Amino acid sequence: MIIEEMTMGDFEEGLKLTRTVYIPFGSVEEHGYHLPLSTDTIQAYEVGKRASKIIPLFVAPPVHYGCCRSTSRHPGTISITTATVKSLLKDIVRSFHSHGMQNFIVLTGHAGGSHRMALQDAGEELIAELSDIRMAVVTEYELAKDAGRYLVETAGDAHAGEIETSRIMHSHPHLVVGTGEREFPTFPMGILVRNKRKYWPNGVWGDPTKASVEKGAKLEALVVAKVVELALALEGFEE
Ligand SMILES: [Zn+2]
Repeated sequence: MIIEEMTMGDFEEGLKLTRTVYIPFGSVEEHGYHLPLSTDTIQAYEVGKRASKIIPLFVAPPVHYGCCRSTSRHPGTISITTATVKSLLKDIVRSFHSHGMQNFIVLTGHAGGSHRMALQDAGEELIAELSDIRMAVVTEYELAKDAGRYLVETAGDAHAGEIETSRIMHSHPHLVVGTGEREFPTFPMGILVRNKRKYWPNGVWGDPTKASVEKGAKLEALVVAKVVELALALEGFEE
């Protein structure tokens, strides 16, 4: 049940099937010269859409913006603060809750540390505030890292590399521009730098030359299966 395509009546009917909503978070962030700026949002949304074909699941319109630190100086990265990320999630969950939703899966395609922690903080405050909700906050990477290990050749592949390039080649091939180059940035140990691009010129962390459509299909299917598993576990979860 893709909320952006539903009517008021569809939403009302949907509530008879499930009280679970999947909220995809992404980012507007450079992903090298070869992938679109909305790579994280596309991946998180795609996975929710596919999971909702397997089980009854509301899929919220994605939150396109995220907090991006290390890529903030790269062209095209449009970042919001962690306070905004946190407020967005809290406001969205409170409103869904007022419409009868009880189980919330927040999956972020953008896995930046501060962004992820802002979502977790919001989730912790929400479960303290609303006593009848259940919440999960995860990144795609956390869901798939163990099961997907055998599929990925590049150790430490993290951003616009083998994994993300494969995913977009599979689901949105028309948005891939050529092939990116292998890159592993080195930032000065412990020192905060303003000009982050100096240490990370091409905005890739990993090896996009190892990407393939087949890997993308397998990785996506894996994350979809994990989302379905998580939704069922959340719905049956009792503390
Ligand atoms: Zn990404």
